[in-house]
Amino acid sequence: MMYLFLSPHLDDVALSAGGLIHKLVSENQKVVVLTFFTEYDKNLTSHYLHSAHNDNMNSFIKFYSKRVNEDIAFCNKLSAIPIHGKILDCIYRTDQYGEPMYKNSAVIYSGLVHKSDYAFDMAQDLIDKTLLNYQPDYIYAPLGIGRHVDHIIINNLVHSIKGSRKLKILLYEDFPYVLGEYPIINPDGLEHALLRNNKFDKRAILVDIDLKEKMQNILFYESQLEPLFGNESNLLISLGKYHHSINKTKIQERFWLIQ
Ligand SMILES: [Zn+2]
Repeated sequence: MMYLFLSPHLDDVALSAGGLIHKLVSENQKVVVLTFFTEYDKNLTSHYLHSAHNDNMNSFIKFYSKRVNEDIAFCNKLSAIPIHGKILDCIYRTDQYGEPMYKNSAVIYSGLVHKSDYAFDMAQDLIDKTLLNYQPDYIYAPLGIGRHVDHIIINNLVHSIKGSRKLKILLYEDFPYVLGEYPIINPDGLEHALLRNNKFDKRAILVDIDLKEKMQNILFYESQLEPLFGNESNLLISLGKYHHSINKTKIQERFWLIQ
């Protein structure tokens, strides 16, 4: 079977479905990780470095150049195929006047896609090509928890996939946003994201996972550890909290199968 995971950024799939991916590759299934927003623009960083209240934006930007190689290392370890979409991350996308479309975290996490944002069309092209090339049996896409515009754009792609092919589509829970603590101002949560996706008839699927493996795989994305969690032990605490909320006795990941 061929499994295609749609990742907005270089890390989302490892964070949200890293346990399942480890399980699939150990069963010799084929896994492709398509990451859409993998590009940065060195010239635009100054804007964010000078603005306050940006949910750690500076640390995200500082190490952007390392992220592609971290993803390649993760995929190599798991024998998954990485595809990098090379679309600019929303923080680097500009309008026709050269102004950033998403100037601060309030806008980035608003869930509102800028009216002249071209990213959806590029993402649509990319998924169309990938579906043709790999013909997956399963697609995993983000629920869009956290309302990050890049996650919302990829979540919106699901509408155009649905019904056009005989494949199963599942939504994954965007971690760490699923903890209900992000963004810091006006946090989003699982319930809200499920409501936003209520046009789909969904059923929860629980998968037993190996937490140690998942943790090790997340650590491939070293540049993201500090901005997202501070350190390794906080990452483990956050994962523990999340998995405990799903099942008190077993470690499981949860996915939402669209019926
Ligand atoms: Zn992301």
